[in-house]
Amino acid sequence: MKNYRNETIAVRFGDTVNQKSLYSQDVVTPIHLSSTNYWKQIDQPGPYEYIRSQNPTRHALEQQLAALEHANHAFAFASGQAAETAVLLSILKNGDHIIGYDDLYGGTKRLINSVFNNFGISANYVDVTKEDILEKSIRPNTKIIWLESPTNPLMKLADISAISKIVHKHGILVVVDNTFLTPYLQNPLDLGADIVVHSGTKYFGGHSDVLNGAVMINDKVLSDQIRHVQNSTGGVLSPFDSYLVLRGLKTLPIRMEAHERNARKLAEYLQKHCKVQKVFYPGLTDHPQYELAKKQARGFGGMISFEIRGGLDAAKKFLGSLELFILAESLGGVESLIEHPALMTHASLTKEEQILAGISESLIRVSVGIEHIDDLIEDMNQAFDCI
Ligand SMILES: *Cc1c(COP(=O)(O)O)cnc(C)c1O
Repeated sequence: MKNYRNETIAVRFGDTVNQKSLYSQDVVTPIHLSSTNYWKQIDQPGPYEYIRSQNPTRHALEQQLAALEHANHAFAFASGQAAETAVLLSILKNGDHIIGYDDLYGGTKRLINSVFNNFGISANYVDVTKEDILEKSIRPNTKIIWLESPTNPLMKLADISAISKIVHKHGILVVVDNTFLTPYLQNPLDLGADIVVHSGTKYFGGHSDVLNGAVMINDKVLSDQIRHVQNSTGGVLSPFDSYLVLRGLKTLPIRMEAHERNARKLAEYLQKHCKVQKVFYPGLTDHPQYELAKKQARGFGGMISFEIRGGLDAAKKFLGSLELFILAESLGGVESLIEHPALMTHASLTKEEQILAGISESLIRVSVGIEHIDDLIEDMNQAFDCI
């Protein structure tokens, strides 16, 4: 296919690929439910044999995901966690070591610390923005560095190309969880990363109605390892869910534009509000890594965190008074969600860990939806007035 732009790839690629192998002349990729496919002769298997190994609907999605992330290979999984598990199983063996960004998604830390730890895998979580700390944390058995940029909930960035250059000298693979910015706004493989993972449950689906995850890779050998683990462990995405993600991806570009447009305005509004202490959004010029954000991504995304003045009491009153924002975990849907990390998404951290991570009881996280910005601001205004 020609070198089309993101918007065109999002709308057309998943379907165009699939049409070639179909008789039906469907405009939209159908949901192929058949769990097995017939052979014309004993020595003539078709392109698909068994649903766990591959399925036409999932295949169309994987082609779409690879094109969007500028990758040679993509794999669709039943969840972001299943995708992460496949990456870890493909690369690590007993005795290996991982370096993680200290502000990683809690589920990733839990997977490494409480599941892979049982199989002899160890991990250190460090501030990867400090080159000396990063260098010191590298061990002879370090195989992976796991990054997010921006992180959750404090919107810290990692310089993907600078870190890749440092760790590649030691033969370490760079994994980037690109859930927050999506391939529409950031392509870590182009910046030097080796593997990209996504929780597609967030912006790929985009409508808060489908659990899914993905892995994208350029290297042929690595991708063969992932394919082997995907088929062996079986955490694949179902045909129906593949269809839902394909459907969601068509509007990824326009949704991301709308999320970001609203997020910028909301961040600026919050920054000026007298009841707000601090706003965390990479698109604000006073974000400490604003220049890096502009350099390595095409946008700043739709996630904002802020500290409210008045501590837990104020946070509770504010969250309880909102009418439009929905009090819920997760992110990336068209509807605006709001939550309290210390009591909700990050409640599994101990008090000390929360303090160390900078998650105070005043902190509030917003997944900015695509409603009209004036309605969102008016809702926050009336909720601030209730404190
Ligand atoms: C939600 C999330 C995950 C986990 O994905 P699931 O689809 O819920 O399994 C991983 N990383 C990030 C950054 C997330 O937000």
